[in-house]
Amino acid sequence: METKDVILRLRTAKGLSQDELAAKVFVTRQAVSRWETGETVPNTETLKLLSAFFDVSINTLLGSPRRPVCQCCGMPLDDSLLGREKNGTLNEDYCKWCYASGEFTYDNMDELIEVSVKHMAGDGFTEEEARAYMKERLPELDYWKRYKELGGGKKIAELKKKLIDEINALRIEGMPEVKALNALAGSDVDLAYPLPNGKTANFLDGNTTYLGARLEPLFGGDRFFGVLANNDFLLIATYEKDGENPELVLYKKR
Ligand SMILES: [Zn+2]
Repeated sequence: METKDVILRLRTAKGLSQDELAAKVFVTRQAVSRWETGETVPNTETLKLLSAFFDVSINTLLGSPRRPVCQCCGMPLDDSLLGREKNGTLNEDYCKWCYASGEFTYDNMDELIEVSVKHMAGDGFTEEEARAYMKERLPELDYWKRYKELGGGKKIAELKKKLIDEINALRIEGMPEVKALNALAGSDVDLAYPLPNGKTANFLDGNTTYLGARLEPLFGGDRFFGVLANNDFLLIATYEKDGENPELVLYKKR
């Protein structure tokens, strides 16, 4: 699809007139009309405004000329997988697991490899093959090339350490010590917890990435411990395989 068709489709899907869209991105109605006839393409600043307004990437607005991959983990990207800045706008270089709310979530390549290998194994790869592939591929990606310049993931490493200390200090009965936290997408880990009044409650935002871990219970049994946290809260729950029958153990504001 070309830019003119993309803009027309996005505008009409929102039920806006050319005038109304023009006002949202500070241009004239004629400018919008020229985009939609293909006479002109929005300039860089206007593309940014359109991207934020429609919540689609600039790459999509331009008719998807690039086939981007996450510059941290190598995953092919589409708009639904993009990371976000602190103000909620899309970051087109990283996926939502590697970059969330303006921060990188991995500070350590080996940790990323171990997490990725678990997801890739079974997809026609063995764990060994996936690990060998990642070890070769990751050093070619922008984040790992510019790792030092980008701060070496120092900020996220500090937050992880702080969260791990806080969680372990809670001494939850039967829960093993937390040693590492990984980035988890809210949409993948948002469980509906039953409340005493018979209703259920969700605590997570599907568009946000959290730090978390899944832990095998210390004394056996079939319930896992799940830990999720970010700058604002800590959540500890237990559940059966595949997140079934979840029970909230603790929810604490930080
Ligand atoms: Zn990624």
